[in-house]
Amino acid sequence: MEQEMMKAAVLTGPRQITMKDVPVPAMGPGLLKIKVNACGVCGSDIHMWKAGKGWAPGTEGSFIMGHEFCGTVTDPGDSHFKKGDRVVFWANLYCGQCDMCRAGQEQLCREVNGTKYIGFVCSGAYAEQFVGKASNAYLLPDAVSDVAAGLIDPLMVAYHAVKHSSLRLHGKVLVVGSGIIGQLIGTLTKRAGASYVAMSKVNDRKIAKAKEIGDFDEYFDGNAPDRAAVMRAASDGGFDVVFEAVGSGETLETALDAVRPGGEIVMIGNSMEPQVPFSMNRAVLQEIRLTGSVSCTRVEFEETIDLIARGMINPERYVTDVMPLSELQHAFERLTSKTDPVVKIVVKP
Ligand SMILES: [Zn+2]
Ligand SMILES: [Zn+2]
Repeated sequence: MEQEMMKAAVLTGPRQITMKDVPVPAMGPGLLKIKVNACGVCGSDIHMWKAGKGWAPGTEGSFIMGHEFCGTVTDPGDSHFKKGDRVVFWANLYCGQCDMCRAGQEQLCREVNGTKYIGFVCSGAYAEQFVGKASNAYLLPDAVSDVAAGLIDPLMVAYHAVKHSSLRLHGKVLVVGSGIIGQLIGTLTKRAGASYVAMSKVNDRKIAKAKEIGDFDEYFDGNAPDRAAVMRAASDGGFDVVFEAVGSGETLETALDAVRPGGEIVMIGNSMEPQVPFSMNRAVLQEIRLTGSVSCTRVEFEETIDLIARGMINPERYVTDVMPLSELQHAFERLTSKTDPVVKIVVKP
């Protein structure tokens, strides 16, 4: 039988995506085949794009990324799905067996350990079709569009970070970072009852979108030498919760500048450096709680879909561009430009 082929955007080298005809992945027990409808372009894709490889050995020079995607079932295999169902895949390849998974903390799965995701260690969905574990697929309600489904991944990260923070009604929140996750956190903390939500940013490139949506009360210049005094004055002594959504030593320092004594810093940003310098004593003497936050639990993934379906947040509003898959290379060039105001791109095959 002749091998069925599909178009895919293949990472063929550092900063290089090439459209290629590749074989459609084979079906098997427990698998589900979809026609990909939309796939969000993520900041972690940018790191792989720059490096020219995925996170697993053997991905150098030929790898298909894409982990924020939805599609229409074309072959349900032995799953409970039906042909024509619209589904979104959760990229987390949790084992379901370890102590963390059994405790409902799949984001901390011992097998995953922060790296074992679809589109990071195995082929993703920057392609016309995708085949993956049916147990990672979730039915999409009609109220969640394909483009909105392309934002479930960053929204789940924001949702988990806010849900597990110490934020209480009327609390004051600072988001450090102007990217999509920071912007979504701004909206979710407002919905969760924060009285004052501000952003610290180092440039204005991405904030037109945030201003249009209007959930941030104020924007601070993270480069200003007097930023600590300015932010403490504006927040009446410091923020109750600071969400660090960049992942660098400088932005962690900004968070320490802004948090009130006894407050919490929630760290979501992924640092590409193995170590970052950090003023430890400032955290000790002010009793600052440092909380790491990654991905979300399986239940929270379902809740994230529900948040959109119920209209608590419309992630489509944060999408600055919907582009054809064939322009993925251009999408990465735009996302890494120093001047482009792009916040979130979703590609469609
Ligand atoms: Zn992502
Ligand atoms: Zn596990």
